[in-house]
Amino acid sequence: MSDTADMGMVVRAAGAPEAMEWSALDTGAPGSGEVRLVQRAIGVNFIDTYFRSGLYPWPSTPLIPGAEAAGVVADVGEGVTEFKAGDRVAYTLPLGAYRTQRVVPAERLISLPDAIAFDVAASVMLKGLTAQFLLTACYPVKAGDTVLVHAAAGGVGLLLGQWLRILGARSIGTAGSPEKVAMAKANGYDHVIDYRAEDFVARVKEITGAKGCDVVYDSVGKDTWRGSLKSLRPLGMFVHFGQSSGMIADFKFSELASGGSLFATRPMLFDYIKSRADLTARAADLFGRLASGEIKAHVGQRVALQDAATAHRALESRRTMGATVLLP
Ligand code: NDP
Repeated sequence: MSDTADMGMVVRAAGAPEAMEWSALDTGAPGSGEVRLVQRAIGVNFIDTYFRSGLYPWPSTPLIPGAEAAGVVADVGEGVTEFKAGDRVAYTLPLGAYRTQRVVPAERLISLPDAIAFDVAASVMLKGLTAQFLLTACYPVKAGDTVLVHAAAGGVGLLLGQWLRILGARSIGTAGSPEKVAMAKANGYDHVIDYRAEDFVARVKEITGAKGCDVVYDSVGKDTWRGSLKSLRPLGMFVHFGQSSGMIADFKFSELASGGSLFATRPMLFDYIKSRADLTARAADLFGRLASGEIKAHVGQRVALQDAATAHRALESRRTMGATVLLP
């Protein structure tokens, strides 16, 4: 390990992207059940900005952001039999991925198929597993369902569009510029609405002949949630899985009644991959589809790890398409 710098992005006080400082670390040896990795690519997720800014409470102080990465096993701790030095692996969670090397529990690692490059793996461990659980477990989408997805040209959004096409759903995406609309259309969506230029509720009504959608996957939150509820059919499902525009503060249960006995959930990926069996089964589904070419990962931005602030600024100001990956 001596030839690999031990560095990472550390946040000592919550704040703007500049709060992340390139700092020397002391990773140490893996303990029992743990593995030490040399990281080759790290995924950037919107959730990283929630932690950095202080919107989400930190598990410990200081914070090292980051929730997905891929790399090579350097050495393993006592009791680890599934992995050995030199193995190519990836993980999502625990937090702390913005660093050159790190120790993670072996039970959180997935072996990477040879066909999957490190940057691709680092861009899909969190985003791709999210697409997988949203469509198969949170609300299992069936052929013929009508599905609305916000931020369809985003990291999770582009994966959802391709997957919905495979499932035989009718998909409607929203995106924030003509370029993003084109990108979402090229990634499976049947209809894409520029929701900065058009009223998406009216357009969904038109597209569905006023029937409404079976399910809405809403990761934008504050700016879209009311319109999302209005875009559902009676007994439809509102899946609120993120808040890129800000937290929903004024939701009332009675709105589910007035919308037509709607259902709503606020899922978190971690609860769907808590057991090793769930993690490996969902990852096998995802990586099988990636390896066969059925689903393609889109790494839209590649940024040096020490320039993570640049990546956060771009993500928070809606300037990215697809996934962003940090390179140590
Ligand atoms: P994205 O690439 O989707 O980036 C966020 C997008 O949100 C932007 O590109 C933008 O797209 C849209 N957006 C709308 N309004 C705003 C605003 N005011 N500020 C910034 N962006 C805005 O990010 P990710 O793929 O990393 O994540 C997508 C969402 O999924 C996030 O909300 C994230 O928290 C959530 N998530 C939730 C998980 C869970 O377990 N619950 C797991 C993984 C992700 P446009 O310009 O087209 O509007």
